[in-house]
Amino acid sequence: MLEQSAERALLLHLSNASDSPPNFGNPSSVHWAGRKAKSALDGARDAIAASLGLEDPDELCFTGSATESINTAIKGFFFQARKDGKKARFVSSAVEHEATLASLEFLKELGAEVELLPVNREGELSLSLLEASLVKAGQGEAVMVSLLAANNETGVVFPFEEAARLSKAHGAVFHLDAVQAWGKLPGFTLAGSAADLVSLSAHKIGGPKGVGALVVKRGVKLESLLHGGAQERKRRAGTVNVPGIAAFAAAAGALSARDLGYVDRLRASLEAMVLERIPGAHVQGAKARRLVNTSNFLFDGVRGEGLLMGLDLEGFAVSSGSACNSGSILPSHVLLAMGLDKAAAASAVRVSLGPQNDENDLMLFVDALVKVVGRIRGSEASRFALRSPQI
Ligand code: PLP
Repeated sequence: MLEQSAERALLLHLSNASDSPPNFGNPSSVHWAGRKAKSALDGARDAIAASLGLEDPDELCFTGSATESINTAIKGFFFQARKDGKKARFVSSAVEHEATLASLEFLKELGAEVELLPVNREGELSLSLLEASLVKAGQGEAVMVSLLAANNETGVVFPFEEAARLSKAHGAVFHLDAVQAWGKLPGFTLAGSAADLVSLSAHKIGGPKGVGALVVKRGVKLESLLHGGAQERKRRAGTVNVPGIAAFAAAAGALSARDLGYVDRLRASLEAMVLERIPGAHVQGAKARRLVNTSNFLFDGVRGEGLLMGLDLEGFAVSSGSACNSGSILPSHVLLAMGLDKAAAASAVRVSLGPQNDENDLMLFVDALVKVVGRIRGSEASRFALRSPQI
């Protein structure tokens, strides 16, 4: 009863449609509040499509995260192939995001063929290895190539447009994980892209967490993972997150003003300072083409956990490989695939910069880094000195 009167009061309050917030209604409802939300959703879809260079905004399907988009693309392809009576074959790389690797692992149990391409010491992908894998596909197999545009741990960029064209030439469907590239790779656009499916995340471009999108080009058939509603042109059932998507559109709209050249110069300056002031420092993927904002550092004799905790105490939030249950850091599958040993692959730290940073931030950060690395190396050396007489 109380609930009913509260709702009535709210509806009465909102009965002047022009005063109501656009995100109050459900865009699937036909009444004025729903139409208002639908119009906010359509506007956001148009703005995001324009920012991406997508001609057809209806190719955008909103999701709850890029993880969901990736699962939808990969598993949706598999279940569609099964419906069409075909065996599914996937070609991907060993350095993909967990959302891709875990989805592929899951599908292997259901009978999918999966090949993960290796990368070289710089984290780069070879197109000739991709081609060699594509020619192995059997007659009547449904083939999907799923690749990163740029790696989230090292920032290394893959030749994704060439890979998409090559895949299409061999009759494969191409899925691109562009989560890191959008907004951090100068010139990134989907205008004229050969990719059939593209996964994106709002929070990686400055939007809210919990919103993502999957671009599904016209003609690409995917079985839906969620059932129970006709939203998003039947590609993703469930009421859409209108406020989140509106904020996603605002973040996408702001990207054109982002000065990536500035971030690139800051990153070059950071790496130069670190290499000059800290002996035994290395940048992973330094020779490869990389995103403008990511540096992956390794310091000889320094464990990742200690470094992360030390920098945290100094007020800096940097990332490392994923933490296991005991809180220690697991070796990064990306760095292992690049040929680092387990200890090194658990020791690297990832530093991300943004347009909000400046040279002063860099100096404060490098001062803290010098202090923390020095302290860890000092205590490692004294532990070794204490231990060594007993050896
Ligand atoms: N793919 C890449 C390359 C990422 O970096 C991330 C997130 O860090 C994801 C996918 C997953 O994105 P989300 O956090 O929206 O699930």
